[in-house]
Amino acid sequence: MQLEKIMADLEKKNPGEVEYLQAVHEVLESLEDTVSENPQFEEAGIIERLIDPDRVLTFKVSWVDDNNKVHVNRGFRVQFNNAIGPYKGGLRFHPSVNLSILKFLGFEQIFKNSLTTLPLGGGKGGSDFNPKGKSDNEIMRFCQAYMLELWKLIGPDTDIPAGDIGVGGREIGFLYGMYKKLAREHVGTLTGKGVNWGGSLIRPEATGFGVTYFAQEMLKTKGETFEGKVVGLSGFGNVAWGAAQKVTELGGKVVTISGPDGYIYDPDGLDDEKIDFLLELRASNQDIVKPYSYEFTNAKFVEGKHPWEVKMDIAIPCATQNELNKEDAETLVKNGVSCVSEGANMPCTPEAIDVFMENKILYGPGKAANAGGVAVSGLEMTQNSMKLGWSREEVDARLQQIMSDIHTACVENGTEEDGFVNYPKGANVAGFLKVANAMLDQGVV
Ligand code: NDP
Repeated sequence: MQLEKIMADLEKKNPGEVEYLQAVHEVLESLEDTVSENPQFEEAGIIERLIDPDRVLTFKVSWVDDNNKVHVNRGFRVQFNNAIGPYKGGLRFHPSVNLSILKFLGFEQIFKNSLTTLPLGGGKGGSDFNPKGKSDNEIMRFCQAYMLELWKLIGPDTDIPAGDIGVGGREIGFLYGMYKKLAREHVGTLTGKGVNWGGSLIRPEATGFGVTYFAQEMLKTKGETFEGKVVGLSGFGNVAWGAAQKVTELGGKVVTISGPDGYIYDPDGLDDEKIDFLLELRASNQDIVKPYSYEFTNAKFVEGKHPWEVKMDIAIPCATQNELNKEDAETLVKNGVSCVSEGANMPCTPEAIDVFMENKILYGPGKAANAGGVAVSGLEMTQNSMKLGWSREEVDARLQQIMSDIHTACVENGTEEDGFVNYPKGANVAGFLKVANAMLDQGVV
């Protein structure tokens, strides 16, 4: 594969789309051996067809705030690849959202969804709308305006959006309400729905549980567990709270959480009472990081920094892309970190990943480690199709099995001669082979 030429062509077509180009480069670099061993992929132009989204929709979203002021945001949906199943991927509402970020996320989603073993293609969407500080009614009006455009493009067998940054249960409710009205059908077109109207038990905590199960599998290869380990998390959103709960349940001590303005270090560790306190603040749309340090006075707030300077055994970044850089990785390694499991998508920069690899750290990339969310979304779709709801235990057992299967696929495809498991390579190769072979079977479309 002519990696540099493919990247140069892609850059020419997508100038300045830094995150998208970064994600494509990371994947293609690890596929070089696989592609050269399988000339049929190059002959069928699989790589060129895989790195370009099937289609991209951008649209205007006009809405009125509580003071009757009109706002205009931009909405997006990127349908990347549907070779193995309908497009599937979350919606992100955050002021930083642009096409580069959504294309990187949609591209990653192809491999992640393939790894889940479920029939799900890759997509992503969102808006540069900022839900922070908005009233429930403003959020509702924005979601309704967004769905007025999106609904024609999605459907239970076509494209199934879910949550991501800034989109949780409340937003999915408002989006689904409008979808249902326009489409005049009650089907599984969105996931992350409320349990009373088609949602799956465990979906809210699935990504956080999954990233913890994946770390548990990695630790097992060294004969280790979470028991007694000091764990650092970043963020405290959809992903981080599930991780905090599961790590604590497995005997680990979560000593950090963070927000955009800094992090909390709590040497006593989170417990159920503290997690409930944080969730209450979060539900009422308030800042959570600083108030935590006022309520629990042993904890300290460190302004303007990431938590990676704290000594920890296991790091689980759960906030956003490129939040852990080379210096952070070096500090973590110096402080004895043994395992990094990515809850967020692409939270570690390529240079940080190099540091983990050189030091033979157990490093689980997001597309494998955080696939639990979309996996349970897939299980939600199955339950919707069957018009049945599974128990909490059943969904959790399936989630654990899926995370264990993803880990096995990484080990099978990523083990190097000295026995070290290159998880990013294993995840990319396993995810890619299934999609590439499906594309071959289906001809040039
Ligand atoms: P949320 O919006 O629920 O949470 C994000 C958290 O990170 C919030 O606590 C937020 O703080 C904090 N945060 C945001 N930006 C920064 C920053 N620059 N520095 C430090 N903290 C920051 O999002 P999710 O939990 O849904 O998503 C987090 C990550 O996980 C994303 O990368 C997403 O793509 C990925 N992911 C999510 C899945 C899901 O099921 N939701 C599935 C798989 C991956 P504040 O609220 O104060 O802004």
